[in-house]
Amino acid sequence: MADGTETESRKLLGRLREEMASEAAGQERLDRITHLIADSIRAEVCSIYLFRDEETLELCATEGLSPEAVHKTRMRMGEGLVGRVAKSGKIVNTPDAPSAKGFRYMPETGEERFSSFLGVPIQRLGEKLGVLVVQSRNAREYSADEVYALEVVAMVLAEMAELGAFVGEGAALSPRHQQPVQFTGGPAQEGSAEGHVWLHEPRVVVTNPIADDPHREQERLTEAVEELRVGVDKMLEISKNGDKEQLQVLEAYRMFANSKGWMRRMEEDIALGLSAEAAVEKEQSQARARMSQVSDPYLRERLADLDDLSNRLLRILTGQGQTNSADLPPDPILVARNIGPGDLLEYGRSLKGIVLEEGSVGSHATIVARALAIPLVVHVGRITTEALNGDHILVDGDQGTVQLRPEDTVVSAFRDKVAMQAKAQERYASIRETPTVTRDGERINLVMNAGLMADLPSLNNSGAEGVGLFRTELQFLIRNKMPKRSELVTQYQRVLDAADKKRVVFRTLDIGSDKVLPYMKHIEEPNPALGWRAIRVGLDKRGVMRMQLQALIRAANGRPLTVMFPFVAQAEEYYEARWEVNKTIDREKRLGHALPESIEVGAMLETPSLAFAPQKFFDEVDFISIGGNDLKQFFFAADRENELVRRRYDSLNVSFLTFIERIVERCNISDTPLSFCGEDAGRPVEALCLAAMGIRTLSMRPASIGPVKSVLLRADLQAVRKIISDARHRGEQSVRPAVMEWLRSQG
Ligand code: PEP
Ligand code: MG
Repeated sequence: MADGTETESRKLLGRLREEMASEAAGQERLDRITHLIADSIRAEVCSIYLFRDEETLELCATEGLSPEAVHKTRMRMGEGLVGRVAKSGKIVNTPDAPSAKGFRYMPETGEERFSSFLGVPIQRLGEKLGVLVVQSRNAREYSADEVYALEVVAMVLAEMAELGAFVGEGAALSPRHQQPVQFTGGPAQEGSAEGHVWLHEPRVVVTNPIADDPHREQERLTEAVEELRVGVDKMLEISKNGDKEQLQVLEAYRMFANSKGWMRRMEEDIALGLSAEAAVEKEQSQARARMSQVSDPYLRERLADLDDLSNRLLRILTGQGQTNSADLPPDPILVARNIGPGDLLEYGRSLKGIVLEEGSVGSHATIVARALAIPLVVHVGRITTEALNGDHILVDGDQGTVQLRPEDTVVSAFRDKVAMQAKAQERYASIRETPTVTRDGERINLVMNAGLMADLPSLNNSGAEGVGLFRTELQFLIRNKMPKRSELVTQYQRVLDAADKKRVVFRTLDIGSDKVLPYMKHIEEPNPALGWRAIRVGLDKRGVMRMQLQALIRAANGRPLTVMFPFVAQAEEYYEARWEVNKTIDREKRLGHALPESIEVGAMLETPSLAFAPQKFFDEVDFISIGGNDLKQFFFAADRENELVRRRYDSLNVSFLTFIERIVERCNISDTPLSFCGEDAGRPVEALCLAAMGIRTLSMRPASIGPVKSVLLRADLQAVRKIISDARHRGEQSVRPAVMEWLRSQG
C-alpha cells in the first residue's frame, strides 16, 4: 500500500475520531462525516445510506447530492447500485454508474451529474447496517488503495453506529438494541418462558476503533496473538489424547493463529489507522460475510473456526466478554449462536428458556433441552447480534417465536397465555394418579419416552406408568467418546432404580441417519435415512451391541429386563438380534453375573415391510412398538427432517390409520403386545385416534401425558371409531376434520 494513502487514511480516521469525541447531535455528526470523507478522498459526493428496517435503505446524510433528498430517498434491498451493495455485501466500483447493472435513476438527488461510483457496505459482524458511497463527476475507477481506505472508514462507521454515535437529538438512526424485535424461528421444545437474556458468548464492544499510534497497536496485536497461540497450544496439549474432532478444531485454530495472511491483513488495517481490536473485528466481519455466501460445509466450518478465534482474540484485547455464571440473572434465557450438549447440561435447569441462532430440531442441544423440558426455539436469525445481556425476552417454544425487548401489550398477552397454561397444568396434576380408563371402559397405558438422566424425575411428576422408550443412544450422542461398559451399567442401574418396579423399555443403540456419533468414523451415504442405521449397524458391529446388552443385563442385576431393537425391517434381523441376546445371557451366566428375573425382547416397527412379516414373527416376538416418526416418513416417502415435506401428510390420513389398524389386527391374532412411541402418541387428537384404532399403550414425552390423559378420560373409543369409519366411507382424505368436529360437539 502506498505510504501516501496510509497517511491520508490515518488523517481521515483522526478527524473521524475527533468527530466521535465531539458533542454533536446524531444528524449533525453524520453530516460532518460525509463532508469530511468527501474532502479527504477528494470526491464530489459522499453519502451515507442506513437501514430504516430490514429491507429499506434511506439516504441519511450527503455531501454533494441534493440536501432535500436526505431522509426522503429510499430504496429497497437490491434496488439500484446502493441496494445492490447492501444486498450482496460486496463493493461496487464503476467509472460509469448510469451504465452499470442495476443503476436506478433517482431524480431528487441530482446524481445524474456524477459518473463514477464507489459503494462499500457498512456492516458489523455480519449485520448489515448501510452503505457508504462516494461519487465523482469524472469517469474514473477508484484505486485499490482508495477502496481499502473507504472500507476501513465504513468499518469505523459501523462501530460508531454500534456505540450509538448517530442517535440522540435530531437522530439519523433510532437507538440500536433498544427497539422491540420479534423473531420467528423453529419450535424445538414446547413451553413458554419469560426472562432476561444471558448471552452464552457476550458481545465484545470495541469502544476505540481508531488509534493514533499504529506502532503501539501493532505491538498490542502481536502480544495478543502470541497469548492466543500459547493458549491454543495449551489446549492442544491437554486434548492430545482426547476426542478427534476437538483436536481437528484446535488444529484449525492453530493454523489460523499462525496464518500470515490473516496477520498481514490486520497489520495493514492498523497501518491505516484502526486500533488492534477494530482490525480484528474488520477481518471477522468479512469472514462472516463470506460465511453467509459459502455453501460448502467444510469451508463454512473453517470460517466458523476463524470466527471463534477472532472472538477469543477480541476478548484478550479488550478484556471483555468473560462469562461468569455468578452473574447469571435469576430468570436466564440463554441466547447463543449454537451450544454443545455438555455446556447446556452445565447450565442445567437454571435456564428458563433457550434461543439459538443456528441449532436444529434434531441437534444434540435440542435433545438435552427436551430432556430438561426447557422451551427452545432454533434458527432464530440475528438473535445474537440483536440481543444484549439483560434484555427482557419472551420465548414461545410452541409457536417458535421470540420477543426481544417487548412492548407492554405483548408482555401482558404473553402472561395471559402462560397463566392459562399454568391452569391447564394444575388440571393435569389433579388427574396424575387417575388410571386412564375411557368412558367406554378401555384401559390405556400411558408411558413416557426418555433418554437422559435428566428425564428421570419426570417418571414421578408426569404420572407415567413406566418408560415405553428409553433412547439409549442419547447418552452416546452427548459425549465426546464412546462410553465404557461400566459407565453404561451405572447409568442403566440409575434408570431402573428411579423406575422402581415400573417397566422400562430400553431401546438398543439407534444411530445413523440424523443421529451421528461424533467419535465414530463418518461414512458418506447418499440417503442416510435409508442407510446404515439402527439394528443394521448393531448387527454389523456386534461388539458394540454385545457391550450394551451386557451392560443392560448387569444393570438389571436380577430384576426384569426389557430390550427393544430399533428399525427392524425383516424378521430375520430380529431373530439374529435375539440370538445375540441369548448368547450374551449364556456368557453372563458363565461369568457368574446375576441374570434378569425375566427378559422381554421386542422389535420396533418403523418400516412398512415389517407389518407384512410372516405370522411366525408376530408369534415369536415378545412385543412390538410402532416407531411412528420413522414409519410415517417411509409410509408417505416424506423425510421427517425436511421442512418442505415433513408437515405435508397428516398422521390422521385414512391410509395411514388403515395401515395402523392392520398392524393392530395382526398383533391381536397372536396376542402380541403392541405400543406406539412416535411423537403422534403425545398429541391428544392423534392419541385418541390411535387408541380408537386399538392401540392400548402410548409412549410420549412426559409433558404430553396430562393433555393426552385428559382427552382419553372423556372419550368414548367406540364412538370415535365410528366417526373414523364414517369419514373413511365418505372418502375423506383425513379423518381430522370429522374427529375435531365430534370433539367440539362433546364440549
Ligand atoms: C420413531 O421413529 O417414531 C421413534 C420413536 O424413534 P426415533 O424418533 O428415535 O427415531
Ligand atoms: Mg425411529
